[in-house]
Parts: sequence; structure tokens; C-alpha cells
Amino acid sequence: MKRTHIAIGLAATIPIIRNNPTGLWGILGATTPDLDYLFGVKHRTITHSLLSLVVSAFTFSLVNRWIGLVWFISYGLHLVADSFTVMGVPFLYPWDKKKYGAKKIKTRSAEDWFIQMLAMMFIVYVYLLK
Ligand SMILES: [Zn+2]
Repeated sequence: MKRTHIAIGLAATIPIIRNNPTGLWGILGATTPDLDYLFGVKHRTITHSLLSLVVSAFTFSLVNRWIGLVWFISYGLHLVADSFTVMGVPFLYPWDKKKYGAKKIKTRSAEDWFIQMLAMMFIVYVYLLK
């Protein structure tokens, strides 16, 4: 879910964002892979590939390296998180269309909510209650 991706991205990148607040823009990378429908491409194809991750993160790093770094981490974690879902992720698209991953979790299932809650609790306990 979108919220799960944002929570996971923030849990991993808050230290960077704290030191360099402009990096917060990079958190958009947590949800961008699922905007594939806006680009008219099939869901979980090119936007869920390592190629898109590297090209987009590199492009943003040219604008601002902190945005590029947060983008890389949050986009990358989106792909990793999706690889645990039943559908999997075509990491090597367009060369290999096979979808990889553990393929165990259903989107919007109890596990999805649990991971989202864990990420939010991590943010609260590790960063906010210090
Ligand atoms: Zn996705």
C-alpha cells in the first residue's frame, strides 16, 4: 500500500532528511513506482525495475544529491517491499520479465498493515521519542 511504502521509506531516511531537509523531496520515490498508470505503462513493469531505480536516482542526484540519495533508498525499498508480495517484482525488466521475490504477502492483507505499523512504530520510537 502507498502508506506502507512511505512509512518504510521514512523509517530508513529520516536521519538523512534531518540533516538535509531538502532530501525530503526524495521520499516521493517511495510511491513513484506505482504511478506507472500515469505513464501509460503496464503495472509492475519498467517502473519496478533496477534500471528505473538507477536512472531516476541518478537524475535526481544531479539536481540535489540528498534528494537523489533519499529517492534511491525509498524507491529501492519500494521494490524490495513489493518483492515480498504475491505478484513479485521484475527487477531486470526489460531484459528479463520474470517477477522475482519471496511472493508471500498480499497487498492490503494483515501482513501489509502489520509492516506499515512496524515502520510507523520504528519512526516514533527511534526518531521522535528521543
Ligand atoms: Zn509497487
